[in-house]
Parts: sequence; C-alpha cells; structure tokens
Amino acid sequence: MIKKALDTEIQFLPGVGPKRASLLARELGVGTVGDLVKIYPFRHIDRSTITPIAEVVPDAALVQVKGEVVSVETPPKRLKITIKDGTGEMDLVFFKGLKYISDKLVPGAVFTFFGKPSVFNGRLNMVHPEIDPADGRVEAPKAIAGVYPSTEKLKNAGITGKVMNKLMANALRMVLPEMEETLPDYVLKENGLMALPFAVRNIHFPTDADALRRARYRLKFEELFLLQLSLLKQKFIRSRGENGIMMPKVGEDFNLCYNALPYQLTGAQKRVIKEIRTDLMSGHQMNRLLQGDVGSGKTMVAVLTALLAVGNGYQACIMAPTEVLARQHFANISKYLAPTGVKAAVLTGSTKASERKKLLPALASGEIGIIVGTHALIEDTVVFKKLGLAIIDEQHRFGVDQRARLWSKTTDGLPPHVLVMTATPIPRTLAMTLYGDLDVSVIDEMPPGRKPIQTMLITERQRSSLWKFIKDQIALGRQAFIVYPLIFESEKLDYQNLEQGYEKVVEAFPFPPYKVAIVHGQQTNDVKTFNMDAFVAGRANILVSTTVIEVGVDVPNASVMVIESAERFGLSQLHQLRGRVGRGADKSYCILVKGDKVGKESQHRLEFLCSTENGFDLAEEDMKMRGPGDLEGTQQSGLPINLNIASLAKDGMILQAARGYAERVLAEDPTLEQPQNRLLRIELAKGKYDVKDYSKIS
Ligand code: ADP
Ligand code: MG
Repeated sequence: MIKKALDTEIQFLPGVGPKRASLLARELGVGTVGDLVKIYPFRHIDRSTITPIAEVVPDAALVQVKGEVVSVETPPKRLKITIKDGTGEMDLVFFKGLKYISDKLVPGAVFTFFGKPSVFNGRLNMVHPEIDPADGRVEAPKAIAGVYPSTEKLKNAGITGKVMNKLMANALRMVLPEMEETLPDYVLKENGLMALPFAVRNIHFPTDADALRRARYRLKFEELFLLQLSLLKQKFIRSRGENGIMMPKVGEDFNLCYNALPYQLTGAQKRVIKEIRTDLMSGHQMNRLLQGDVGSGKTMVAVLTALLAVGNGYQACIMAPTEVLARQHFANISKYLAPTGVKAAVLTGSTKASERKKLLPALASGEIGIIVGTHALIEDTVVFKKLGLAIIDEQHRFGVDQRARLWSKTTDGLPPHVLVMTATPIPRTLAMTLYGDLDVSVIDEMPPGRKPIQTMLITERQRSSLWKFIKDQIALGRQAFIVYPLIFESEKLDYQNLEQGYEKVVEAFPFPPYKVAIVHGQQTNDVKTFNMDAFVAGRANILVSTTVIEVGVDVPNASVMVIESAERFGLSQLHQLRGRVGRGADKSYCILVKGDKVGKESQHRLEFLCSTENGFDLAEEDMKMRGPGDLEGTQQSGLPINLNIASLAKDGMILQAARGYAERVLAEDPTLEQPQNRLLRIELAKGKYDVKDYSKIS
C-alpha cells in the first residue's frame, strides 16, 4: 500500500530529521506531516508593514522595523547592536549565534528586524529578533505570517518561528495535493465555506487578510459544526420516539397556587414556564437546564412545574445540594403550596428515623405529591408511587452517577422529566456544549424592586472604617455576612484564618450588644443548623462563615456582604456570594477586602465585579480570563473536548451559526445515514468530538 503523504513520519520531512522529530513529538504532539499542518498559527502578523522606531510601543505585539547598524558592542556572553532609522534608535540583544550575527550585522548594514519590543535601562530593545535582508522584499506569502505555538526547548533546538514557517511550507507542499475534503459539498455551499486544502494553505500562508479571515471561518465552523452534530445527534434520535410521560393537563392546584401569588410573574418566568409546559405535553422526555441569576425567581418556576406534574397524577422531587438549602426550599415551597391541597415533605440525611417511618410510606402511597431533599432522596429505601418529574437545583454539585440513580426510580418504564436549575450563569455558548443535549431556558429578568448592590474594593488599612460601617448598618437593624475563603489544598490554614477572623470580629463586635454566629463545614449538622438559624431569625447580627452560605440562603434583612481575601475567589463565586444580599427592600453593600499583594489579573477581576451586577457578563469575562475549562461550576462536568482552532469563549457567533445548521442537518437525517452525509459520519467516527452522553444520565 502506498503511504499517504499525510501519514509520513515527521522525521522524513525536509528540515526535520530524527532529533528534531522527537522534539516535535514531545513538545507539540506532532508525529506525522499531517499532524504538523494541523498546528495552526494562534496569531498572524502583518509583515508587509514596517514600523518606524519612534512609533514602536514597548511590550506591544511583535513588530518589524528596518534600520541601519550603528554600533556593535560585545560585553561578555552577548552581543549588543544598536540600529537607527530616520526616526529613532533601538538596541538589539543576542545571546546565541554571536559570531554569525556579528559577521553579518556590521556597522552601515541595513536589515529588517522582527521581534517583540521591550524597554531595558530606559532604552527600546529587542531580544533575538529575526533578521531579514532589507532590500530583498519579504516574499508575498510571508506578508502575513503565522505565529506558531512554541516552547523554550523548541527554540533552543533552533526551531524558531522562521524555521516553523519553513517546515510548514515544506509540509504543505507534500500534503496539499492529496488533502481530501472533510465536509459534504452541500455544507460548503450553503455556508459559503472555502474548500479544506485552500483553507489550510491560507491559515498558514494567507494570500491576503480576506483569505485569512475566510480560512479561519471555515476551520472554526467545521470544528463547531461537527461538535454540535455530535452533541445533538442523540437528542434528535430520541425525539423521534414516544419516550416521555405525557402531561397534557394544567390541573387545579397549579391554578390555585398561581392565582394566590402575591406578585405578577416576570415576563421571563412566564416564558420559561411556557417552554416547560410545551416540553411536558410533547410526549418526549424533558431535559431542560434553567439558568437564572441569583434572585431571579427560579423557586417559583420550580413550584409551578412541580404542580404541573402533580396535576397530571405524578409526583415531583426537588433535590438541593445541602441540608440548609433543602430545608429552606421546603419552607418557601410550603408557603406557595398553602392555597393548594398538595402535600409536601422534606427528607435529608438528618431526618429522624421516626419521621422517615411516616414519610416513606406516604411517598410510596402517593399521598406526598412533592418531596424536597438532599442526596438522601436517592437512597434505595426511597420509593415513589409515580415519579414524573425531578428538579435538580445547582446541578453541578451532584455527581453524574447520583443523577443516574434518581433516574432509575421511575416506575412505569418512562424516565421522569428533568429540570436542572443553576444560578451559575454559564455563557450560552458554553452551556450548549457542556450540557450536551439539554435545552436551555434563561431567566434574564429580575423581579421588580430589587435595589442595586454597591460593591466596593478595600484593603486591610480600611478595616476600622469597615467595622464602623457595619456597626451603622446594625444600628439600622440590618445584618452582615463576613465570608472567608476555604480552598481545598490549604484547608487547615484556611480554618485558622477563619477562626482568627472570627476572634477579631468578636473583639470588634463584643457581646452585648452584638451577637456573632459562625458557620463552617467542620461543624456538626446540629451546630451548623443552630448557628444558621440564629442568623436567619435575626438573633445574630453577624454571620462569620466559609462559603457554605454560597448557594441559595435567603436572609432578606442582611444588607452587607464582606468577602475576606477576595482575591482568592473566582468571579462567579464572588458574584454568587454577593447575591446573598440585596434580597430585601434596603440598599445593600458588598465589600471586597483584598490582601496587600494582589496580582494584576486578580485586581482586574475584583474591579470587574465592582463594575457590574450582570451575572452573564461576569461569566463571559470569567470564561475569557480563565478559559472555559476552568470555569467554576463546570470543572466537574469538565470540558472533554480539545478544539484545534475554535474557541468556545470567543467564537460565540460562529457557534450559534454552526449549531443552527447542525440542527437543520439532523432534522433531515438524524442518524446521518443518507449518502450526502457520508463525510460527516466519517469525521464523527474519528472520536474527536465525542462528549460524555449527558442524555443518559439527566
Ligand atoms: P432564585 O432561586 O432564582 O435565586 P428565588 O426564587 O429565591 O430566586 O426568588 C428571589 C426572591 O424574589 C424571593 O423572595 C421571591 O419571593 C421573589 N420573587 C420571585 N419571583 C418574583 C416576582 N415575579 N415578582 C416579585 N418577587 C418575586
Ligand atoms: Mg434559589
């Protein structure tokens, strides 16, 4: 069999050889020539322009200057060359290849230099710029040049940017003639995409800016389109069968509850309930993710959804991540249920045996319509009469297998409908990927009357005015949260900080008249509950805690949220914490106390938080700063796919287009078995776009 050029081992590519081959394999994972051409430039620079030295901005991106050598100095182990053009002077510093360079760069010689400018001892300089003859114009294909990922080791082995460009040119010469299209013809046409070989050539060596733009679009679209195809395929296959519990009715209880509401639902709440109702009537299993910022009124939606299930003769369960939250949900939900005849109950790890004895049979007999609880709900002893709906709050805290166990509690062969609620705003583009085939609903509107929260950033030096401020708030009858970070690796140290912090707070707020409660994860449930209740009921003025209060806890009277060592929290976590205040009618404050040495990025994060209260803006920013893989709340689900060129954080528009198009393709051919989709089948079978199949578990 004739070996394809694409499969040629990289060592046989002209300019590589065994030594560089092993380095390329180790550093960039390149084994074949085909692998090499898939290393796309992460950036392009326009080398058709030459920047006057006077206009060079230190620490800016790479620039190209053209200058005449004025002097050559040879301090030990390096070479310093000064150049000038008509506008100014610049130093060039070399540590390697000194002889070769000093032979070439003699005073009076003119070259172009390309590199990263910086400032050293007050003078503009470039370390190891690329050197090109000034008159031999830069060849056309290099006018816009790709910048490739590199490492110290590659550079030390002489694989510089320039060399990479050469290798790439050699590789393309070998593989382009035989490179096959990966997308069907009709997909290219309908989306205005250029052919693959053309795109690959232009991503490496663009003929002009427009060709580069189109090459990028083609390659990004392809990745995102195939990814969405892979994600949505299951959903389309499933939606062909009749596999969902039919819930066509609204039911008396829904109306009783709805009509007794003390407020109007927001437009967003109404829209989401409509979306849910459509799902429940469709005959297909609902798999919906409900995103809504803290305080956007998700509980109401959960209650009404549960009542729809009850109205159709089914039971509903609502799972919360913590005991405190489960009990709080139960208390809220009971209020809403008062006008109805629906019986609700709560089951957690600390529900007493005597209580369980009454509760479990009532659940099995169907007497209990709605049960709220924690992980305790998935124990084997918990048996439903007819579970038709599972609502999962803050889903990322549940493991995948736990959800699977809940699913198995179905009674009549059909899986319960699933509504997952999260207050962690995840950028829509990311949600589409992370949650696979879940449909996404967003509550993007706050109930009326919420006062803005004023967020301030202070340092330790302002501690005494902070204490005074809290005292003033307490004098007005308000309460305050003081939160300390608790990060897994340094848990011991963190608890020390928490305890020292607590002592300081107690010292500043002595009893009487002040009362300070403390809550953290190392307390027993009883102690935790006791302290928490003291704060919720208003008996304590201040609650010192770790992030255990992060999710859901509702104390409308609290008007101050102090976050200690705020630089140690991520953006979304800070936002979640801030959402604990501003729930009452009074003006609220979030005060971020930062340490003395705060990095640039942390400072930016904290300032960004001060600038906006919009959770989605914050999530977008978070994703940009940290990359989607590290986003809070998403680590557990992970981002198991490695995209080559597209970015979930930055290519939202292309992703939208690719998803919409993937839906159209699947609507025609859900299994991609028709002949025109052969190439798509082949690409998906390669496995690059396989994501965990969330449809099986939630
Ligand atoms: P979330 O769970 O999304 O953080 P909640 O459901 O706890 O938010 O609602 C926050 C507060 O807003 C609650 O006190 C709730 O009673 C109130 N609320 C919910 N919906 C509305 C509405 N449409 N109009 C006014 N207040 C509302
Ligand atoms: Mg809530």
